[in-house]
Amino acid sequence: MCARPLLVIESDDWGAGPLPQAEALDALAEILTEVRDASGRPATLSLAVVLAVPDAASGRLELDDLRLAPVLEAIRRGVDRGVFSLNLHGLEHYWLPALKASQDPAVAQWLAQPAPAATEMLPPHLQSRWVDAATLPSRPLDAGDIARAVDEEVSLFRRVFGRIPAAVVPPTFVWTREVERAWVAAGVRCVVTPGCRYTQRGRGGEACGVEGPIRNGDHADELLYLARSEYFEPVKGRGAAHALQALTRDLMLGRPCVLENHRNNFCQDAALRARSLEELRHFLRAALDLHPGLRFVTTAELAALYRHPGADGFASGRTKWPFLWRRLQATGRLWKLLRLTGAAAMGGLAVALLSTPGVRAPAGGK
Ligand SMILES: [Zn+2]
Repeated sequence: MCARPLLVIESDDWGAGPLPQAEALDALAEILTEVRDASGRPATLSLAVVLAVPDAASGRLELDDLRLAPVLEAIRRGVDRGVFSLNLHGLEHYWLPALKASQDPAVAQWLAQPAPAATEMLPPHLQSRWVDAATLPSRPLDAGDIARAVDEEVSLFRRVFGRIPAAVVPPTFVWTREVERAWVAAGVRCVVTPGCRYTQRGRGGEACGVEGPIRNGDHADELLYLARSEYFEPVKGRGAAHALQALTRDLMLGRPCVLENHRNNFCQDAALRARSLEELRHFLRAALDLHPGLRFVTTAELAALYRHPGADGFASGRTKWPFLWRRLQATGRLWKLLRLTGAAAMGGLAVALLSTPGVRAPAGGK
């Protein structure tokens, strides 16, 4: 139950890939630097980073290869300015043996193109890293292969950025407990989720085999889970207005707002990039205007808050009640039943006697 208004924006797929990312990252860093919360902290993007793409000549083009220097330098500039923080997305945004075994000629062409390629162009099911989706439905990977692949990606992240990743964002959100155990063995302590775990790709390529639900702060052994709540994806029609509504809803329910975003909002043509950047600027400014106490935090900082639940920012005792009450109101059928029995009126009176942190709704919003 998060009493302080917190916003995390997580943007996926950055790193090894097309060079125009560098210009997009610099433009993002400019906007993030401009907007500061009440503590003086600039807005931040938690980037989920991919470490390699195929290279016909050398086999694999890694992020610290000279050919990708413009992208890596732009990432590092943003980190130095305090506007980017880094999570691991994956060594690669696919399981390479599955790509090689695929019978799809477009996949063979994709693999043979000059580096660096854009993984967004692959069929969606083959963008999953932690299953073998060469044929559908997908098959689980061998535990030994998973352990070696995790070791390799965590080592490469450390070689490029000098430390173990604070959190991992599984590509396409298809992964398994086996993969989590390997991450823990390699020193990773946090996984970002969409609120559940998809473990397979089905006959039609869809993500399936759902396990969960997973909530912010849940644990499995030493691993802490975070759950994204909504999207900021202007290219899919989920721009500033959509994100503002999500932010206000989450804050009223006592949840941090964790937004999902992808590089493809900023790396396509110039007009789309300009529109997405403007939506981001508008969203950040309107968010602060609507919620002056809002704090920009990174994935790693949010994970640290959940690891120390007594820390500043979490409601306890009676201060939880207003948030719990609003969550109950959001339950639908249960809330209807309480209203019919009159229990809702009694509960409302009790909660009204408590102080409620002020959270304003967006103008014209629900
Ligand atoms: Zn991704």
